[in-house]
Amino acid sequence: MPIAGPARWHAELAWLGDRVAADVLIETEGDRIRAVSPGVAAAPAEAVRLRGLTLPGLANVHSHAFHRALRGRTQSGPGTFWSWRDQMYAVAERLTPETYLGLARAVYAEMALAGVTCVGEFHYLHHGPAGVPYDDPNAMGRALLQAAADAGIRITVLDTCYLTAGLPGGSPGGSPGGAGAPLAGPQLRFGDGDADRWAARVAALKPAAHGRVGAAIHSVRAVPMAQMRPVVAWAAADGAPLHAHVSEQRAENAACFAAYGRTPTQVLAEAGALGSRTTAVHATHLTDDDIALLGASGTSICMCPTTERDLADGIGPARTLATAGSPLNLGSDSHAVIDLFEEARAVEMDERLRTEVRGHWTADELLRAATADGHAALGWPEAGRLAPGALADLVTVALDTPRLAGTRPEDAAASVVFAACAADVRHVVVGGRQVVRDGVHVLVRIEGQQ
Ligand SMILES: [Zn+2]
Repeated sequence: MPIAGPARWHAELAWLGDRVAADVLIETEGDRIRAVSPGVAAAPAEAVRLRGLTLPGLANVHSHAFHRALRGRTQSGPGTFWSWRDQMYAVAERLTPETYLGLARAVYAEMALAGVTCVGEFHYLHHGPAGVPYDDPNAMGRALLQAAADAGIRITVLDTCYLTAGLPGGSPGGSPGGAGAPLAGPQLRFGDGDADRWAARVAALKPAAHGRVGAAIHSVRAVPMAQMRPVVAWAAADGAPLHAHVSEQRAENAACFAAYGRTPTQVLAEAGALGSRTTAVHATHLTDDDIALLGASGTSICMCPTTERDLADGIGPARTLATAGSPLNLGSDSHAVIDLFEEARAVEMDERLRTEVRGHWTADELLRAATADGHAALGWPEAGRLAPGALADLVTVALDTPRLAGTRPEDAAASVVFAACAADVRHVVVGGRQVVRDGVHVLVRIEGQQ
């Protein structure tokens, strides 16, 4: 990532974590914020004016970049999560490192345009057809790192351990007794054989200035309990984030209970996988005991409401989990849409539909989920805040669009959370470098866009 020189940015309004301030002078040096000064009415002549509400960069905590290719093709018609998954595998079957680079670059550029400055890529498409490793066994992971660099955003590659097609004795995909069902068909591209070989491959995937590497356990379906420990140990040794899909579907819970006599959360707890560096993705169908385990361990929760509703997953108990001690963050997951404002408000709106009561989350809480807490879950604790010392990642939302015209300064945070969309993002700065200017990506030309 090129190093930016000293710069001054003058925000008409800026969200400072718990309040909106006016006329905020943000001074940056290289990739960091040096000073944040509200109430500077007369901006220095050389300052770049940021008209609208400036937020810290948004973190998209859960992404499968290649699912973007399914948009519009899988939304209509009958089906379940499992029939959608077959369509998703058909895309996975065709990708090469070269085509994945092009696809992911476009997806990450779309994210940048939506104000996302850091993505957590839950990456399991590791190997070539039939599971044969590429000459560089990390060719696919490196394509993702390159795609993020090209799009000008940060990335945490959550390199995912994926070993089996189903739980022992469980369904779907499991075989009675023994280990889990072997991978077959397109899934062969996901597998490293065992967790030790997974760790050896990941050790060769080096981080970059804009990119970090974390670990993921795909799910209890894909990693037998005994194979979870090496993944947990790798993440612990590196101080790296550890993510896992948890209880997205009731069928997963039933198969897990049949195999282990435990829920997926209990299996992860038993394997030592919960804790403050861990993020449970979805956490949709939980027991009270699961919620207590996740909350007491400080495990973060990633909600992906636009995907969860697209896949008919259900509504996870986000508020109850947060009250129990689990920080919330957000992801666009399958990229049915890429719009973190939509994800943020959906957490509140879904809770309203479920409970028939309003007001579970404040706008400030939902913005913290999309910024500081999201970055923390991706191993970037120095990002996601407008404060001295933080990374200079800025997102300015226009307040003069049809959706947001008439916003009062004191309501700006709530207006953005409850009414903005990705198209309202006007400027994006990553590490002191402007990546989006006046709604246009300055590094990547978007095919098909005027
Ligand atoms: Zn996912």
